[in-house]
Amino acid sequence: MVKKLEDVATVPLTCGACKKRITNVKGTAKFMCPSCGKYPIIRCKHCREIVAKYKCPGCGFEGPN
Ligand SMILES: [Zn+2]
Ligand SMILES: [Zn+2]
Repeated sequence: MVKKLEDVATVPLTCGACKKRITNVKGTAKFMCPSCGKYPIIRCKHCREIVAKYKCPGCGFEGPN
């Protein structure tokens, strides 16, 4: 069965640091892993402000930088 585009778009986004749902939350940063480039890193505004750590599920890269 082919997955419809709407299904992909409605998958809830969660912050990689605090695991909170950040769908439709403004100020959220989303970028691909700077190390492997295969996994999206998502951080909410709050975690950006407190510089919370995130970890790539693919390569184990830890940021913020
Ligand atoms: Zn967060
Ligand atoms: Zn990675």
